[in-house]
Amino acid sequence: MIVNILDKKKSIINKFISEIRTKEIQGDSMRFRRNIERIGEILAYKISETLDFETKEIKTPLGDTAIEIPKKNVVLCSILRAGLPLHNGLLNYFDDAESAFISAYRKHISKTEFEIKVEYFASPSLQDKTLILADPMLATGQSLVSVYEVLKKHGIPKEIHVACVIGSDEGIAFIKDHFPQNTKLWIATVDKKLNDKGYIVPGLGDAGDLAFGEKL
Ligand code: URA
Repeated sequence: MIVNILDKKKSIINKFISEIRTKEIQGDSMRFRRNIERIGEILAYKISETLDFETKEIKTPLGDTAIEIPKKNVVLCSILRAGLPLHNGLLNYFDDAESAFISAYRKHISKTEFEIKVEYFASPSLQDKTLILADPMLATGQSLVSVYEVLKKHGIPKEIHVACVIGSDEGIAFIKDHFPQNTKLWIATVDKKLNDKGYIVPGLGDAGDLAFGEKL
């Protein structure tokens, strides 16, 4: 797996990362969603640099030209519900992409142990397409791997890009072992630790709750 960590090079993405982590700012859910969306836009731009392009002939009012544009074979798949703002950000750039949605939640067996349940899945065919799989928090990596096992039933993509906001070393190592070797991971920043509940530390807390409110 090729791992691309975006904050290794200083850029405006650092400001968006700082705002989603900061306690006094992240409580504004509209701003939180918008910052995740902006990170999604930057991830989309970086991913776009690696896609297949084709030549498009163009007629301007003054003459003819040609330009290379990305091929229209992208499927964006997001994990509900925290993936939705990231999905929007990616879709802002890949406006022709097809969309897939899948749910994954942690069903707790005890306070510290859980299994991943995948229940909802709506997807076009993935056969030979470019799959971008979006999950803001790459903590243990178990959700992404469970989701990928289900996605494969809809065809084998030509290439896979995993788009995340904050990850852990452990999560990255886990998905490296379970995704095809040529998968590319695009992640805004990486933290070292997980706590005993499988949350990233320092991370930002619960991305789904911050974007959409606390669950019962
Ligand atoms: N999901 C989250 O929302 N936050 C984490 O830290 C881990 C998983």
